[in-house]
Amino acid sequence: MRTKLVAGNWKMNGSLALNAELLKAVRAGKAAAELAVCVPFPYLAQAQAELHGSHVTWGAQDISAQAQGAFTGEVSASMLTDFGCTYVLVGHSERRTLHGETDAVVAAKFAAAQSAGLIPVLCIGETLAERESNITAEVVTRQLEAVLAKSGVAAFANAVIAYEPVWAIGTGLTATPAQAQDVHALIRARVARDDATVAAGVRILYGGSMKPGNARELMQQADIDGGLIGGAALVATDFLGIANAC
Ligand code: PEP
Repeated sequence: MRTKLVAGNWKMNGSLALNAELLKAVRAGKAAAELAVCVPFPYLAQAQAELHGSHVTWGAQDISAQAQGAFTGEVSASMLTDFGCTYVLVGHSERRTLHGETDAVVAAKFAAAQSAGLIPVLCIGETLAERESNITAEVVTRQLEAVLAKSGVAAFANAVIAYEPVWAIGTGLTATPAQAQDVHALIRARVARDDATVAAGVRILYGGSMKPGNARELMQQADIDGGLIGGAALVATDFLGIANAC
């Protein structure tokens, strides 16, 4: 039985004052799912202080593939563990598109996260052009296989996958429940090809303009195990509303 996970991706939003309100409200909310928030690096200490001892876990939105050293501006996986992080996003489409992260870089970050004891949330998904060219399956499989090749299928016993169609992120467009389920089933089947037990246990989140109003139908799909939430994670009632749709 997979416990649903609803994880917020705050992206580059927030301030100490706004975060304090949001974190307190999320902490105080009742949710039918596991909750997590992935906050900007400078606010990890605040998330730790506000959420410590609560049912809400926290994490970051990226890490370096390197362990330490002369990598100006980078943040290592072990630094995140100093702040009590549970999760870290790797391969978010904004990192892939705006920062040129290749499948190989994402696979290296996934491995670095796990070697420090973090749970990576591997983000994969196709662009609109790729969907319209009917290559969604190839793209998502290629992104997944880069990680399978580097870390092996057993690594997915301690990882989360987020299917995020790029065309649905921050656009207000959402994959239909059937479109999302098709890709989630394909992802699980690809993992099952290597290990059926790992595939049955791995959580696959949907991300892309999820809101309280569309969450229930998405969450009801057999292979959708929660959500990765961007914009709606900045409003406590929306974030909790999504979690309660589980
Ligand atoms: C995201 O950035 O991961 C995301 C899903 O954003 P949004 O919910 O705003 O589409």
